[in-house]
Amino acid sequence: MTIPVLPQSPEIAPQPADPLDHLTDRLFHRMGADGVYARTALYEDMVERLAALITRHREPGTEVMRFPPVMSRAQLEKSGYLKSFPNLLGCVCGLHGTERDINAAVSRFDAGGDWTTSLSPADLVLSPAACYPVYPIAASRGAPPKGGLRFDVAADCFRREPSRHLDRLQSFRMREYVCIGTPNDVSAFRERWMVRAQAIARDLGLSFRVDQASDLFFGRVGQMKAVSQKQQSLKFELLVPLRSEDQPTACMSFNYHREHFGTTWDIVDANGEPAHTGCVAFGMDRLAVAMFHTHGTEQNKWPSPVREILGLERQAVVAD
Ligand code: AMP
Ligand code: ZN
Repeated sequence: MTIPVLPQSPEIAPQPADPLDHLTDRLFHRMGADGVYARTALYEDMVERLAALITRHREPGTEVMRFPPVMSRAQLEKSGYLKSFPNLLGCVCGLHGTERDINAAVSRFDAGGDWTTSLSPADLVLSPAACYPVYPIAASRGAPPKGGLRFDVAADCFRREPSRHLDRLQSFRMREYVCIGTPNDVSAFRERWMVRAQAIARDLGLSFRVDQASDLFFGRVGQMKAVSQKQQSLKFELLVPLRSEDQPTACMSFNYHREHFGTTWDIVDANGEPAHTGCVAFGMDRLAVAMFHTHGTEQNKWPSPVREILGLERQAVVAD
């Protein structure tokens, strides 16, 4: 039986499909909220392979730390996050009242009312980037040694930017290498990583360009911060043209924070000056989406060198 195709009036015409939509059903299961997805085995396997590839490029002397998806609210406040991205922050809330207050909230819900009016903020926020917790930990250890410190960190991150696009999630994985040291330590670190990251993208068969960028600072004052960030070349991004060349997707970023975290956390470099910091961030979910968009969902058809670099090539069977 064929289903007749009815002409659609402009009012009810569906939204134009996003170029990444074709991937949704192979990579994700919907969970009832935009930008929050359960992941299929195919997708998760790719995230793990990409993580392993990034690990293989880790510099010697880098300390590994893995962070939970939440962090101290006080630490994030002290880091200045609310001055730059208050609109993106997710804060943990709870029912902190007495037993009576809590029962009243639940009863309100049971009666079809709103229980959330009884919520109050906890001392936790959802981490908006993987590197924030590392600076106070490093500070607690005293001055970084000559040559600086390097960390390998990762976290599930949250940014309150709901979107239907698969490359803009609210909950996503971020992996970072972080450097804390003198301005020279950090500049050299960032330059090394900008070269290395492009080699990784090339190995993965991705089209890309690296360009200066700015963060999406909040509000009108934020626009001025973005201009200043660009003028000082504090942020570069590795951009992959997933939906178009004009609106490419940032899959990695290379950030120089100058003395911001050194001053905030009172970290002093080998010369007695506030330490400088920088990080290279890998958007693990964006990289995985980029791989499937670029090469398709049938991995056996991916270019052989790409399969090889990811360990997807079948091991040669040794016959005896
Ligand atoms: P940023 O701190 O904004 O430079 O983010 C670091 C990296 O995380 C970016 O280059 C992206 O690859 C990834 N990322 C940032 N925001 C999102 C998002 N909403 N959804 C998925 N990945 C993201
Ligand atoms: Zn960072």
